[in-house]
Amino acid sequence: MVWLVTLIGVVVVLIWGRIVSQISPINQNLLNSQVNSIPDNFPQGSINIITGNSDSNKQVEPVLTQEEAVGLVLPMPDDPPISLWRPPLYPTPWAISPNDHFYFSRPIAADEINWPLANYRYGYFFPETDIIHTGIDITAKRGTPVIAAAPGTVIWAGYGLYTGSYNEEDPYGMAVTVEHDFGYKDKNLLTVYGHMDRIDVEKGQRVETGTQLGIVGNTGFTTGPHLHFEVRYETNSYFRTRNPELWLSPPQGWGVLVGQVKTFDNYYIHLKEIYVRSKDTNQSWMVLTYATNSINRDEYYKENLALSDLPAGSYSISFTIDGITYKQDLIIYPGAITFFSFRDKIGFSFETPSIQKPEDWENIVLSDKFLP
Ligand SMILES: [Zn+2]
Repeated sequence: MVWLVTLIGVVVVLIWGRIVSQISPINQNLLNSQVNSIPDNFPQGSINIITGNSDSNKQVEPVLTQEEAVGLVLPMPDDPPISLWRPPLYPTPWAISPNDHFYFSRPIAADEINWPLANYRYGYFFPETDIIHTGIDITAKRGTPVIAAAPGTVIWAGYGLYTGSYNEEDPYGMAVTVEHDFGYKDKNLLTVYGHMDRIDVEKGQRVETGTQLGIVGNTGFTTGPHLHFEVRYETNSYFRTRNPELWLSPPQGWGVLVGQVKTFDNYYIHLKEIYVRSKDTNQSWMVLTYATNSINRDEYYKENLALSDLPAGSYSISFTIDGITYKQDLIIYPGAITFFSFRDKIGFSFETPSIQKPEDWENIVLSDKFLP
């Protein structure tokens, strides 16, 4: 069943890849805005209240027209041009707000697909398996060089990353962990590269950004060749992962959407389909909220969704809860995180979270099942 789901997923990914890879004209005003400072109107201070109402006979604003709804269900533009070209990445580390931390370059070079597989992002699981995804997958051809995302020291190289000692059955296959020269808020940052066919570094070796660590392969628990990439915080443990989409430097002129989608009672809503549409190009994306609580949220944003690599510009997001479709316009800023929160029956807010003290961090309970 997993194979079937994966096969379907690959087809979907190929289709999505065609959509995602098309080059969008970027709002020139946004592109030309100062990328080294936070835009004057960022974050937006306004709160848009939408009154949720379970009585479907009553008019609830905003409700999508049937045409819009169909457009969201089938986000297929006509004949998208096939191109892998994207703007170069912002230089790392990149952080134009004190709470952003785009510290890492991509672990695959820019002349290949080097962005996350759309339907298997951080925090997802295949419901049949109850296995949680603790990183992102990048679909790259077997043999593609895997490169270090930042300078550091190799602290693991080989089979057995998960099990802790040499084990060819380890789900990560041949994997490398780099402990970086820099941390975040006085704690270590590490990156993990899994499923490689060959490793070109050894434990203790210094690496720089772009140093070849090995080549993309198919070792470990995989359904096909790809790179599994993780960001770990504090220790080299899969219990300490973070969503790499909040840590990888965006292409220049592009940004990242991060959000919380919660019930009225302030519980995270799992596996909710969030539709994201560019109002400039009509290009569409779908991102699922995290499937469970068994992952680590960013300690500031406490998100349950992240969607990176969005060309800056005007967007609308929409999703449906209990038969009511909620829709909200927002701006994706270049080189920055656009944050939103939603509470059912209360509405949207663009206020950024208040600073959380470490002792307020969530107590995470993790499943013992996972798939790198
Ligand atoms: Zn993976």
